[in-house]
Amino acid sequence: MTDFKFDLLATDGQARLGRVHTAHGVIDTPAFMPVGTAGTVKAMLPGSVAATGAQIVLGNTYHLMLRPGADRVERLGGLHQFMNWPGPILTDSGGFQVMSLAKLRKMDADGVTFQSHHDGSKHRLTPENSMEIQRQLDADITMAFDECTPFPATPQQAAESMRLSMRWAARSKAAFTPRPGYGLFGIVQGGIYPDLRAESAKALLEIGFDGYAIGGLAVGEGQEAMFATLDVTTPLLPEDKPRYLMGVGRPSDIIGAVMRGVDMFDCVMPTRSGRTAQAFTKRGTVNLRNARHQDDPRPLEEGCACPACRDHSRAYLHHLIRSEEILGPMLLTWHNIQAYQDLTRSLRAAIAEGRVEAFAARAAELEAQGDIAAL
Ligand SMILES: [Zn+2]
Repeated sequence: MTDFKFDLLATDGQARLGRVHTAHGVIDTPAFMPVGTAGTVKAMLPGSVAATGAQIVLGNTYHLMLRPGADRVERLGGLHQFMNWPGPILTDSGGFQVMSLAKLRKMDADGVTFQSHHDGSKHRLTPENSMEIQRQLDADITMAFDECTPFPATPQQAAESMRLSMRWAARSKAAFTPRPGYGLFGIVQGGIYPDLRAESAKALLEIGFDGYAIGGLAVGEGQEAMFATLDVTTPLLPEDKPRYLMGVGRPSDIIGAVMRGVDMFDCVMPTRSGRTAQAFTKRGTVNLRNARHQDDPRPLEEGCACPACRDHSRAYLHHLIRSEEILGPMLLTWHNIQAYQDLTRSLRAAIAEGRVEAFAARAAELEAQGDIAAL
């Protein structure tokens, strides 16, 4: 069995080309992880997700512990077998969604008690049982249990929240059962305050993790503040461990973060947008519901290998959306995941060839030219 490890293969400025080795396969970085909330990347077959080039998917502890239940997933062979995704899986700790979805949550120094948003049943998450649930799900990458600091937060609120998360990080590490090929990531918090980010990074390095996530961003602070926070945070993280920016983001966010030394990303945006007729293209997002597509025989995006672009016209995609046919969200979700995988694949090639600056400049230029329908 392979050890969980990260190989740094090349750098271009701060940007990194790497490879994460896990029990269920490798992840080439920079990597985008499609979100498979409830044991499925919505509207996609697992084989279709893999066909886009995605090597790892994300599962949500909060959703899976409530339905179908972590015990059941474990009895049925773990999440890889249950959802038929043989590749690596990362699970979040459950903390973020308890805060955003659960009813009647009550936080204390030890953990969070909450009611399910499905049926009101009572549950509890602590660092210890979050580790146990993620083990039952068989996640290759387990996330430490933390509190995602809300935005905006005063320096004092951000400090108290971050220090609680650091105590929970130590408990997560103590409760995590090391196994070959399986890793535990700590999460840097501290809001938009550089001194708090530094304190958090130092605390996590003392505990020691297999990778380091940057949490509490993309919560409304804006791209400039996010990049400024990354500028002061990634230099504090070890070079020989993967770095994961949680919940990010738009293509320009990903490009900017890669150029600031981030390796891994996840975001619901490509999948959620695919279900609401929004398509990501190199020239920005386009709404296929708009009537200007109804007579357009061209593919959504020239050169894209996904079935939506390879086999169909913008006019047909528009028709599917207007008719509320289920194939519409399926095709647009596939296209959007393909677009994100093509982006990270292009970034990897650019880093390998030492031209990531030029790649980023060209991507910004294309996006500034405006959406595809205007061409
Ligand atoms: Zn496409």
